[in-house]
Amino acid sequence: MAGADEIHITPGMQRYIDRNNAYLERRSTYIRDVVKKWKFDTIAVHGLYSVEDALDDYQGSIIEPVFMSSSQAYRDSDEMECALAYLIPTWCYSRIANPSTYFYEWALALMEGYGFDGETSCCSTSSGMAAIMTAVQPFLVHTEQHVHEPRNFLATAQCYGGTFQQFSIRLMEERGIECRWIEDPTDIDAWASRIDKNTRFLYGELPSNPAQGFFDIKAVADLAHSHNLPLICDNTVGTPALLRPLCHGADIVIESATKSLTTSGFGVAGAVISRNNITTTIDNPQMKENFAAYVKYLPNRDIGPNLHPMQAILTLNDMRTLRSKMDMLSRNTMKVAKFLEGHPAVESAEYLGLPSHPLHELASRYMWLVDAEYDELYGKPVNRYGHLMSFCVKGDVQNTRDVFDGLQRIWRATDLGRIKSVVTIPAISTHQQQGEEGRKLANIPPNLIRLCVGGEHPDDTIADLDQALNRVASSTKVSMAGAAK
Ligand SMILES: *Cc1c(COP(=O)(O)O)cnc(C)c1O
Repeated sequence: MAGADEIHITPGMQRYIDRNNAYLERRSTYIRDVVKKWKFDTIAVHGLYSVEDALDDYQGSIIEPVFMSSSQAYRDSDEMECALAYLIPTWCYSRIANPSTYFYEWALALMEGYGFDGETSCCSTSSGMAAIMTAVQPFLVHTEQHVHEPRNFLATAQCYGGTFQQFSIRLMEERGIECRWIEDPTDIDAWASRIDKNTRFLYGELPSNPAQGFFDIKAVADLAHSHNLPLICDNTVGTPALLRPLCHGADIVIESATKSLTTSGFGVAGAVISRNNITTTIDNPQMKENFAAYVKYLPNRDIGPNLHPMQAILTLNDMRTLRSKMDMLSRNTMKVAKFLEGHPAVESAEYLGLPSHPLHELASRYMWLVDAEYDELYGKPVNRYGHLMSFCVKGDVQNTRDVFDGLQRIWRATDLGRIKSVVTIPAISTHQQQGEEGRKLANIPPNLIRLCVGGEHPDDTIADLDQALNRVASSTKVSMAGAAK
């Protein structure tokens, strides 16, 4: 990938190159003729790890092996030189690549690329935040000699608290790179009017955490491309089982695999997935052609936000059942959301699946349970909206805390995507650091409780919420009775 033209290729090296080209050819054929024809569940279960792979290279292990090795040894100097010049596929050193992360990356590239007519690639990262950094930094490089070149990018104001901090503190405050927050991303003119010649990319989280923001991916991607800019989407909340932004024109997707992709909660992981030939004004052919491979083998090699092989396999193992889990979790959330919407102590319940949600129709155009039409149970496309929702408690902030503290089975944690139901109060946790101003921008009122509904029977989750809500409902009975009329 780098510097091949400076290297003198000996006949010994050429043998390695030929052998590895033959391997790449076999892999492309296998992806094109076999894997790309599978349904989503088959891809999620197997990814690129085949029976042949297992028998030839991994002693028949039916699970992808965990390669807890810092580095790879080479047969001779020819192979080493080819490998370090990236003339042959290599993993070399676990900061750069590793066979376990390789299988995790391919599974995600194929899942996000399901239904997409073209090639996709993935670069694993140690966390979702590292994935965001990995995805945005290559667009913020200096393109001319002078150091004080103004640079800006656009991003949805409703986003994860960590993303807000990375953009507003690390990039804006500390590096002078302007983040232009888009408060209403459904307003295409709001995006269009903020783009200028110094804009490097458009960034959108959807559905957003926790405010359930959404936007028209295709319209924003078209706008970005008309300015020769890429659209980067954070697909953490939707997951590829419900939403695949690459199919709608996004150039790059980031995932915090920590969340619904690792439902078990066994650790932190992330990924950047790109389609080939992204749109960008940055004059860098390697980066344009295969962004994920570029960031993996060059910038991230030098920065080091790599994923641990053990974590890669733990997460990969969770991802195999993603479709059926997201279906179940979405259905549970729908039931809980309907209950909360009707509870007298609840001011409002926000869930994209509720017809009362202002973005319900827009989200319904994009959020579908993958392959529902091939599912025996459904036999037709069905909308699913994930398991993140939120609700506001009536009355003062103390009421919100009382409901929160009164929960008996639901876990109080700054976490989501779990098989166990989890709640948090964003204003005092995930979105605490950005201050009142930032919270207002992101639409986070102090009485908002974020709820991520798990795999428990929804009736039990509802019972827990009901008993906690009834504590404040009974203590403010008079006003409630008044409100009911
Ligand atoms: C949690 C989260 C992140 C950050 O991911 P980590 O794995 O915690 O670093 C990014 N985006 C969204 C939407 C998230 O929920």
